[in-house]
Amino acid sequence: MLINHKFALKLFIMKTTLKLLSLFLVIAFISTSCNKDDKNKVDNIILLIGDGMSIPQINALMLTCDTTTAFDKFPVTGLVKTNSKSNKITDSAAGGTAIATGHKTNNGMIGMNYDSIAVPSILEIMSDKGKKTGVVVTSYATHATPASFIAKNISRNNYEEIASDFSESDKIDVVIGGGRKHFNKRSDNINLIETMQSNGWRYYDTLINIDTSADKLLILADDNHLPPYSQRGDFLPDATSIALKNLKNENGFFLMIEGSQIDFACHAKDSTYLINEMKDFNNTINVVLDFARNNPNTLVVVTADHETGGLTIIDPDERYTNTYLNFSTGSHSPLMVPVFAYGHGAENFSGIIDNTDIIDIILDIVK
Ligand code: MG
Ligand code: ZN
Repeated sequence: MLINHKFALKLFIMKTTLKLLSLFLVIAFISTSCNKDDKNKVDNIILLIGDGMSIPQINALMLTCDTTTAFDKFPVTGLVKTNSKSNKITDSAAGGTAIATGHKTNNGMIGMNYDSIAVPSILEIMSDKGKKTGVVVTSYATHATPASFIAKNISRNNYEEIASDFSESDKIDVVIGGGRKHFNKRSDNINLIETMQSNGWRYYDTLINIDTSADKLLILADDNHLPPYSQRGDFLPDATSIALKNLKNENGFFLMIEGSQIDFACHAKDSTYLINEMKDFNNTINVVLDFARNNPNTLVVVTADHETGGLTIIDPDERYTNTYLNFSTGSHSPLMVPVFAYGHGAENFSGIIDNTDIIDIILDIVK
């Protein structure tokens, strides 16, 4: 009996020690996972969309660059199928909606599934998780791609209604782009900029002297789309830096940045315009990668909504020396687009995925 008692006592001590040890391990695990700069945790999500950009557009950039491009720096790449619900070839509304909400919809529709039911976007979901959110573009802020992250509309062309959705949303903190006329020169004579200012937004019409500590930041730098890179200069990388300064906070943020005019250049079949827009997008990705290196709790995803121009890079005289950018259409093409990922969980973007998978992969990583 005595032996049994001793044995029981030993067992009790061992069990208690084990319990204490595991409690210690749990506490240690929790304290490391609460470290805001933990590279195994994602607080910040930065999604960059090159509108109309697939492999040929990136390859065209590489042919003109002496240095390594930002695209070369990503450890993980994958391919993305882009068809919409209604069409083999998507437009930017259905493409943006698929990326933003995870729903295939009909061409032309914004933030709605194909039954015309409004669906939440990743930006809105992240806002609900307590993160700050923003969009930075060089087109109208109300254009199809940024609209897909905030607005719900049957048609991408209802710009004034889309601007109203921006002004009424309590889920967005930073809006930088063009399209000012949809806010202050409207058919209903309502000045949405004034409405937003009275609701706590700081408004600017340029990127100069911005108070980045403002709670909410509205920068509409043009009545229309911003001009092409040759005239607007480093608007996109500069606006990105401003947005990152404003959005950085301990709960993290979601930021969508669009190289909007890669698509415009390819519709115009203008190779100089395209190369400039690709260089600008490349510089912007570098700004984001610098931020991600300094803030390891950041996931960076670069992708596109579709290819534009049916671009091929041809050997015009068949001597393997010269290259020529050959636009085979003034429209979009069904070509897959690449996805590049950097940060914790990036490996989940490899392989061939659908445009609607992107939101699920991000949500899985962020949890
Ligand atoms: Mg776009
Ligand atoms: Zn287009």
